[in-house]
Amino acid sequence: MSSKDKIKTNSLQLKKAMKCESLDEGTFAFLNWMNCKSFDSEVFEQNPPLILKYVDFPNVGLARLFDRFLGQDVFVNMVDCVPSCRTCVTDDCSHVGFTICLLQLIEREGFESMHDILK
Ligand SMILES: [Zn+2]
Repeated sequence: MSSKDKIKTNSLQLKKAMKCESLDEGTFAFLNWMNCKSFDSEVFEQNPPLILKYVDFPNVGLARLFDRFLGQDVFVNMVDCVPSCRTCVTDDCSHVGFTICLLQLIEREGFESMHDILK
């Protein structure tokens, strides 16, 4: 992240900076979610910090995650296959990290629907 981007992010998302910290955190959150794969924020057992709620197929252009820390949905847009977080207004937050892992999984496994991801 450049210093200019950092200033932009901090001024826009001061309160959320603690949580939307890094791509690595998003990667970890994704692995955590993969272990339980739940869309229901109430019943999953391993409490993943981020939960995939929706991703559009076949041409992935949007992912919707639920951030348990923020207690709200987070939208990540894909522009030319590059994820950008609408909530954090950045491309290197944990939500983007989560989405990158998701895209890699979809590509690797050839998934074509939400059902493929969840099975
Ligand atoms: Zn984000």
